[in-house]
Amino acid sequence: MAGQCIFCKIVEDRSMAPQWLAESDRALAFLDIHPIRVGHTLVIPKAHSIELFDVAPEDWVAVGELTTRVARLLREALGTRGENLFAASGPGSEQSVFHLHVHIIPRTTGDDLRWNDWWATKVFTPPQSDLVALAKRIRG
Ligand SMILES: [Zn+2]
Repeated sequence: MAGQCIFCKIVEDRSMAPQWLAESDRALAFLDIHPIRVGHTLVIPKAHSIELFDVAPEDWVAVGELTTRVARLLREALGTRGENLFAASGPGSEQSVFHLHVHIIPRTTGDDLRWNDWWATKVFTPPQSDLVALAKRIRG
């Protein structure tokens, strides 16, 4: 539903996102209106794409290139020391805006996001035999 999509509307009318940062022919980057860190940015393909399987290869390249360009701008402007990249794709992923987007979350050493603390509460360590069996199943 490209006509209803808030990100498509932003692509068509830049005044809807005056906090835009950079663009290319196929991708656009703008500050998230609900950031979890200062400088939290979204990078989108300009073509309406709901989940990763909808994104044309050339649009993925454009999103990747713009993500790199904007991450560098963020580091220079904010003095950050890294970034986390994140995307949600598909109904099981808690995707909230149904136009695929990559989050750039600027990070500094010792900041309060504590991603690794959260991660440590979720990881498990299966036996290697389980991983091998799973890999065979996925490879088909
Ligand atoms: Zn859209």
